[in-house]
Amino acid sequence: MFGLKADWSLDIKQRYFTLGNYAGGEARWCPGCGDHGVLTVVQRICRDEQLPPEKTVAVSGIGCSSRLPHYMGTYGFHGLHGRALPVACGIKARRPELDVWVATGDGDCYSIGTGHWIHAVRYNMNMTVLVFDNSVYGLTKKQTSPTTPIGFQSNTHPLGAPLAPLNPLTATLGITNVSFVAQTIDWNPVHLYETIKAAHNHKGFSLVNILQRCPVYSENVLKDLQQNPSKLLLLTHDKGIPLETNLLRLFPNQQEHDPLNMSEAYDIAVQNSPVPVGLLYHNPDVPCYEDISSQGKNMGVDEKLAALNAAYDQFAI
Ligand code: SF4
Ligand code: MG
Repeated sequence: MFGLKADWSLDIKQRYFTLGNYAGGEARWCPGCGDHGVLTVVQRICRDEQLPPEKTVAVSGIGCSSRLPHYMGTYGFHGLHGRALPVACGIKARRPELDVWVATGDGDCYSIGTGHWIHAVRYNMNMTVLVFDNSVYGLTKKQTSPTTPIGFQSNTHPLGAPLAPLNPLTATLGITNVSFVAQTIDWNPVHLYETIKAAHNHKGFSLVNILQRCPVYSENVLKDLQQNPSKLLLLTHDKGIPLETNLLRLFPNQQEHDPLNMSEAYDIAVQNSPVPVGLLYHNPDVPCYEDISSQGKNMGVDEKLAALNAAYDQFAI
């Protein structure tokens, strides 16, 4: 692996990571589940970006998608329901040099974890957050989730979901300090790859809402979008998600959208018909909380003691 040179300096060979370095346990999602494709894309991006597995962490809550850390050959933390984001923020706060990925679902993030989602967006810590949005609670076998369409028959609403679904794009766009919001589809691996790669390249909290097929419990929800691409609206821009010309042809509806334009992003997201795919909003200038809060992290013991004493002296009477 390494040899000694005449000047006694170590000559360490550069490591090259293959896809196998990012493979964990065998994925146990159902056949045809969109989660398989997302896992493959995440592993490919890790390989293409040559992320050291020992400096990469996959964090999740509870749900089908939250099994992702088990299938990665990196560090991982399979947390509690709705609590992926506070765990990820804790990791980032103390180890900002780690590459943090979050796998969560529409129930995990937009219902049980709602408070964490809002504040994690506001803190804008540098992490890639993948919301596997299949419009249903899959792991617990078909309950209505926040993104379940009105009228959809589930085990909690056999006569049909009574409320209009939450729109995760408009909701996220409305949060202070939002810096990256995108939406993609699991059945177009190129768009999926490019979107997640753009999210990973962004320094800040990147939220990617992935329309994810669950052929077992919510097959009909996305079937129409798969079979009829005119129900999708591809967002294009030179600052957006890059797509080659032959793939652009797959999307009959396209709209040029500057991802810095927040009001247009909101208009596209709130309309939601056709369903937007692409980069809705990207502001690279929002500060990251870990950069603000980790000031003084590298202070020596004496400096820390002096700072502590100075802080205590404020309360001296
Ligand atoms: Fe995927 Fe649905 Fe099966 Fe869960 S229940 S693994 S979301 S297909
Ligand atoms: Mg779900």
